[in-house]
Amino acid sequence: MKATRIHQFGGPEVLTYEEVPDPKPRADQVSVRVRACALNHLDIFVRKGLPGVNLPHILGSDIAGEIVEVGAYISDLKPGQRVIVAPMSFCGRCPKCLAGLQNQCRQFTVLGNGVDGGNCELIAAPAANIIPIPDSLDFNQAASVPLVFVTAWHMLVGRAAIRAGQTVLVLGANSGVGIAAIQIAKLFHARVITTAGDEKKMARGLELGADFVVDHYQQRISQEVRKITHGEGVDIVVEHVGSATWDESMRCLKAGGTLVTCGATTGPQVGIDLRFLFSRQLSLLGSYMGTMSELHEVLGHVFAGRLKPVVDHIFPLRDTRAAHEYMEKSQMFGKIVLNP
Ligand SMILES: [Zn+2]
Repeated sequence: MKATRIHQFGGPEVLTYEEVPDPKPRADQVSVRVRACALNHLDIFVRKGLPGVNLPHILGSDIAGEIVEVGAYISDLKPGQRVIVAPMSFCGRCPKCLAGLQNQCRQFTVLGNGVDGGNCELIAAPAANIIPIPDSLDFNQAASVPLVFVTAWHMLVGRAAIRAGQTVLVLGANSGVGIAAIQIAKLFHARVITTAGDEKKMARGLELGADFVVDHYQQRISQEVRKITHGEGVDIVVEHVGSATWDESMRCLKAGGTLVTCGATTGPQVGIDLRFLFSRQLSLLGSYMGTMSELHEVLGHVFAGRLKPVVDHIFPLRDTRAAHEYMEKSQMFGKIVLNP
């Protein structure tokens, strides 16, 4: 089969489109013909070099396709079914996995990170990862869902325990997590403030359901949030930007508020004024991906049309390099998808 692999870490030039052996599914696995694989910032981090990545390596976490072969142990899936592959790998046997907390398993990793991913024509995955999709979703839309929607769901629902009537600040309306978090917060009848970097992205943020949008280049986020909330601040901040926005994010919290973070795209080192943290009784929560149960839950809302994936641009798999270069320009609103 064809695949895009990296043989060394580096810039987009290390992405190599080449012939590789077909995967051989085990008796407990399903082989899926990849029809679409969406990009995430994780692809760029892995390409640049992360510990635990064995080379050569196939990138790509978010896979939608058709089943081509079903292992002997599996009776409830069949060739031809349209499916997504849950973007995670876990042992399935440890106490955390058995408690449904797969993202706390010691062997937990994301497809395309610690194990080979979906920038290829065929992938073999355990049956537990295979989730049938309705005809209402095309492959590009389906591939745009799993990683960012389960991440945003785990942040808001699993970690921050969002409640109706709360005010939520979602950074980066155009990012995958932002697009998912705005919609999930609205699903829970929250008031949503989001941020974007130009007028077009600001308008798209409002279309997704945000009640207010702040221009994060022209305006100071915390000042605008204070105005909107009449000086009170927000209940929850959805952070994934990191050092560039951290101080502003902290200033936006009301007393007793919660900042939940799943990433550090602009850098991991931030400062915390402990006096501010304790006197205002703030909660800082880390969040990483989500559980299989949460993935099924959020997918239920996507399948019912209550949450909508946003596809920005589709590239052929052979042009993975161009797709990475496009992503690094941060001009997109929504997901970049590769088609083998
Ligand atoms: Zn486990």
